[in-house]
Amino acid sequence: MAHTDFIPYGRQSISEDDIAAVVKSLRSDFLTQGPCVTEFEQALCAKVGARYGVAANSATSALHLACLALGVGEGDSVWTSPNTFIASANCARYCGADVDFVDIDPRTYNMCAEKLADKLARAKVEGKLPKVIIPVHFAGQSCDMKAIHILSKEYGFRIIEDASHAIGSKYQNKYVGNGEFSDICVFSFHPVKIITSAEGGMAVTNDEQLAKHMRTHGAQGTTKSPEELTQIPGDWYYEQHTLGFNYRMTELQAALGLSQLSRLDDFIARRHKQFQNYQRLLKDLPVILPYQDKDNYSSLHLFPILLPIGNETARKGVFDSLRQAGVGTQVHYIPVHIQPYYQQLGFAGGDFPIAEDYYARTLSLPLFADLTYAQQERVALILKHALIANRVMSA
Ligand SMILES: *Cc1c(COP(=O)(O)O)cnc(C)c1O
Repeated sequence: MAHTDFIPYGRQSISEDDIAAVVKSLRSDFLTQGPCVTEFEQALCAKVGARYGVAANSATSALHLACLALGVGEGDSVWTSPNTFIASANCARYCGADVDFVDIDPRTYNMCAEKLADKLARAKVEGKLPKVIIPVHFAGQSCDMKAIHILSKEYGFRIIEDASHAIGSKYQNKYVGNGEFSDICVFSFHPVKIITSAEGGMAVTNDEQLAKHMRTHGAQGTTKSPEELTQIPGDWYYEQHTLGFNYRMTELQAALGLSQLSRLDDFIARRHKQFQNYQRLLKDLPVILPYQDKDNYSSLHLFPILLPIGNETARKGVFDSLRQAGVGTQVHYIPVHIQPYYQQLGFAGGDFPIAEDYYARTLSLPLFADLTYAQQERVALILKHALIANRVMSA
């Protein structure tokens, strides 16, 4: 059991049914490459309205497969948001491509569509247009996909949605992942995300060729599909057609993911209730609460608050005070371009000032399915004390 007093910022919710589903798969004939993986792929596709799903051992792997399927390689450029987990950028680096970033919208903290349009216009003049753009639906709130999609037609790039935070989110009344405005959409099932398979991810698409490419490359570059084989000498036979990876999801992971998927709507409903509670509990504190676009329905993966001023000392003080008082806060995200690895590639502090200012002021408060109202009250009280102790507000 977790320490009873400490409130983590995120935590999985595992039911007896989830446990029974995993035990059942353990007792079955297949621990990997069995029926649960296919069932999970089909159930998730049915939920979000996509045609093909390719399960993988992580969203990072699925993002890599997505880049490969879209032909990303050396000499290409892939753009993403600086306000994301490093995997959104690293997937392009795995393929040998260059990475660049588009600064965020100060209200949604997502990639800013106007800044993207400006940067594309400049890149066109310089002959440096990106091959792929990876918008990240930060905290579960969809990016302005319609605007990005229109730009993709004008400038000829492809789109991978990094929807690691956004399973169950809706954009313009349709589930993220339905593919109307992108080529491929990737979900994560890491334990801090909305639903979990321990480790795991899935790429969904409406394009059969992209799905096949991702499936083959996630399974060592091999195929067993009769229509793809050059000969069929017997049932043992498979062919390697390309150099792939072992990115497969196991049956245990898929059994857990499938069971969790049936709880998705309940999880998100609970997060919305908690979100409303926080709005009430924090309304007198001098912090900026996350903005919610009325047209979209967010999974509410995170609850990032902003301190009123860009002051890393105050943020560190509040962070430490919260942690010491048993409130598991976290910072989402350190801008990817200031990671030493990306600085070695030529990026520097100051390159994406809005993401950097946001980073200096943000803290994510606990938000997860089993968070209780009493815990939320405690978070609010401890936050108030922490703001006073660090002179962000007066007593
Ligand atoms: C968690 C996360 C990933 C990576 O997911 P894994 O399943 O842990 O590989 C990628 N992008 C974003 C935005 C994430 O939050």
